[in-house]
Amino acid sequence: MRRLLTITLAALMVATVAPRAADPDTAARWWSHVEALANDGMEGRNTGSAGHKRAAEYVAAQFQKSRLEPGAAGAFIQPVRFNTRHIDESRSRLALVSNGSEETLTLGEDANISMRVDPAATIDAPLVFIGYGLRIPERQIDDLAGLDLRGAVVVHISATPRSLPGPLQAHFGSAGERWKMYNAAGAIGVISIANPRSMDIPWARSTLARLQPAMSLADTSLGETAGQQLSVTMNPAHADRLFAGSGHTFAELLALADGGTTLPAFALKPRIRARVAVERAAVESQNVVGILRGTDPQLRGEFVVLSAHLDHLGIGGAINGDSIYNGAMDNASGVAAILEVAASLHAGTVKPKRSILFVAVTGEEKGELGSLYFAAHPPVPRERIAANLNTDMFLPLFPLKTLMVLGLDESDLGQDIRATARELGLQVQADPEPQRNRFVRSDQYSFIKFGIPALAMKVGYEPNSPEAAIAAKWTAERYHAPSDDLNQPIDRSAAAKYVDVVKTLAVRIANRAERPKWNEGSFFARFARSETRGPGK
Ligand SMILES: [Zn+2]
Repeated sequence: MRRLLTITLAALMVATVAPRAADPDTAARWWSHVEALANDGMEGRNTGSAGHKRAAEYVAAQFQKSRLEPGAAGAFIQPVRFNTRHIDESRSRLALVSNGSEETLTLGEDANISMRVDPAATIDAPLVFIGYGLRIPERQIDDLAGLDLRGAVVVHISATPRSLPGPLQAHFGSAGERWKMYNAAGAIGVISIANPRSMDIPWARSTLARLQPAMSLADTSLGETAGQQLSVTMNPAHADRLFAGSGHTFAELLALADGGTTLPAFALKPRIRARVAVERAAVESQNVVGILRGTDPQLRGEFVVLSAHLDHLGIGGAINGDSIYNGAMDNASGVAAILEVAASLHAGTVKPKRSILFVAVTGEEKGELGSLYFAAHPPVPRERIAANLNTDMFLPLFPLKTLMVLGLDESDLGQDIRATARELGLQVQADPEPQRNRFVRSDQYSFIKFGIPALAMKVGYEPNSPEAAIAAKWTAERYHAPSDDLNQPIDRSAAAKYVDVVKTLAVRIANRAERPKWNEGSFFARFARSETRGPGK
């Protein structure tokens, strides 16, 4: 029924609004930026690397060419300092202990020790399975009820009940929010088991990333895992080792989760014993910031932020003989899009009333850290930032007919994107797979935490369509792999159309009479209230 209605509406739209044709010059320039940022010479743009710095200088030069004003204290580059942690696995160990006997968990195969938190050198603690591991009083969810978690390492399945609306799944399922709940209950560490159904990349590939250094902001006041002594990700195929002797199997628990039922919580038989050797260092990386000054004397003091992350994974474990993680789609494509929006606004006659802040951020792959730093230390007064539009891996793999919008129903920016789509002959859809937590998995979330209304967009597709299959294949084969490089089939006209969307939408928001605001019932409206503004609150 709904599907049919959509088709009819689309037919009407096509009849009344001729879709704007994609501009081949825009497509060619967009691709030239992708080539400049994702060629092997940029070495995968790892946060803090020389390759990332060269990429940042390229972006700054393009901002200059488009006559943007330097946006960070008179310069285009905003330096961001990080602490890095690198595991020395040869001197690290993870084991399960039952009845006095130790059973090793092989690092890389059974489980990985995450460097996202700064781990304690040694741990010996009881394990408690906590199901989904959520405590959300306002939704009457309490998986921790009646459990003694003091001094324990909690074990949870990385999933959230489907009864939770998408944005809440995304918010409460995040590592930072989870740690707040577990920390308050007295736990000292976390083991998460991915649901194999919603794993973006297979274990065999994701495990290669464990030897990469992890980072946190040197500004520790912005940290979300203070006090966490251990973070382990368990290979779901080997998760039964945790449940031995508990009377439960992982398959049975997973079936309950997939069925949307509540999960039992119980103490596990073994204890966890860990010894972790970490090499620590410090690096500096770059956000790049440019301002297009608005034309309206009143409104030009307010800012619409167009953001895209510049960093990717650098050089890592080789796959098919290739060790450079170029990140062409993730996210040279997004940075290229905002560069092209800046160039096109400079060249064109449409001039926005509010100012537009173009920001290429670092540290996204390390946990959205560059954007968090930017939102915490903005070079313009934060209360003057009216909105954020973020582009991360918008995936122009097939023609752009539908825009997938994250945060569509959370603020009145939803009306702007709907109007923009109508104007350009496109349809809009909310995130069809909220369980992938996409709304909190990129840089828009750093702005949302400070109360700023935000949207993120991608090229959308209908479920079970040929396009859905192309997107799924891309994720399985190229996402966070060296093959996300310049040698892949891309639909450049979809990219050009996307650039048009971002530009049209940004101008529309910049020209609004009233500032954007969160919808009355939106969960995220709470961050705009001053008492909860900012992360860690
Ligand atoms: Zn990524």
